[in-house]
Amino acid sequence: MKVKVWGCRGSLPSPGPENYTYGGNTSCIQVTHGETCIILDSGSGIQRLGKFITPAVREMHILLTHLHIDHTMGLGFFAPLYNPDIEIHIWGPATAGHPLIDRLRRYFSPPLFPIRLTELPNHPIIHELSNEFFSIGDIRIHCEYLCHPGPTLGYRLSDGKATIAYIPDHELRLASNDFPNDPEWTSGYEIAKSADLLFHDGSYTAREYSRKVGWGHSSIDDAIAFAKMCKVKKLAIFHHEPSRSDLEIEQMLQDSLGNEELDFEVQMCAEGNEYNLEDEVENSPER
Ligand SMILES: [Zn+2]
Ligand SMILES: [Zn+2]
Repeated sequence: MKVKVWGCRGSLPSPGPENYTYGGNTSCIQVTHGETCIILDSGSGIQRLGKFITPAVREMHILLTHLHIDHTMGLGFFAPLYNPDIEIHIWGPATAGHPLIDRLRRYFSPPLFPIRLTELPNHPIIHELSNEFFSIGDIRIHCEYLCHPGPTLGYRLSDGKATIAYIPDHELRLASNDFPNDPEWTSGYEIAKSADLLFHDGSYTAREYSRKVGWGHSSIDDAIAFAKMCKVKKLAIFHHEPSRSDLEIEQMLQDSLGNEELDFEVQMCAEGNEYNLEDEVENSPER
């Protein structure tokens, strides 16, 4: 699997010279494996991704974690949606009484947006998900509801050799009284366990989190504790606060790690990052 980050900012796009390294676009990750093209969330980063799709691609799958605006705002600006030769599938969380297509229609309607879903040349194919396993091409996917306001899914993608987990918005501490001591009762554990690469919400410092309990996000310290519990190989901290500059993001990681030695890699996720999991697995001596 090849993975590319097109946006990792949380809540609001934040362009500007002080955010040059980590980027200003909101959540969007592209996963490719052979012919299969999967896009995780359609934040503002998906607009730029749309310009780099190779002409051979005829089918794309957009997996939405949830419908918060920072994860959907780029959808109407995704050029392949207007290309009648490309079949687009949109997958997202089911909600009692509110079909996913109705929730997407709210976005694609005035006064929020000038074009309606029915006016697109190829109607996207909508799939509702809850806790389940399914496949797209050769990629096996597991999704589960997570602790975040409104129905929100985490995704685990595996090609049989490598596994990535995507949990961009997640409040770990609200979901478990005994975090991080009880994996079985920790929201997201089944999605992230033993992943080669985990993208996880680390919006706040521990101090900030104490004032924002219930807002749906985790501290960087809790994201690291979760990654340790799940025994992942690499953690990419995701959903950077819109007001946080490059320097502040780097400082945040240093402050959180201190002198602690971890047996896995932790990085602050940056827009433009690419990961070639096949190479990493092939280069790994223990496999
Ligand atoms: Zn978000
Ligand atoms: Zn959210």
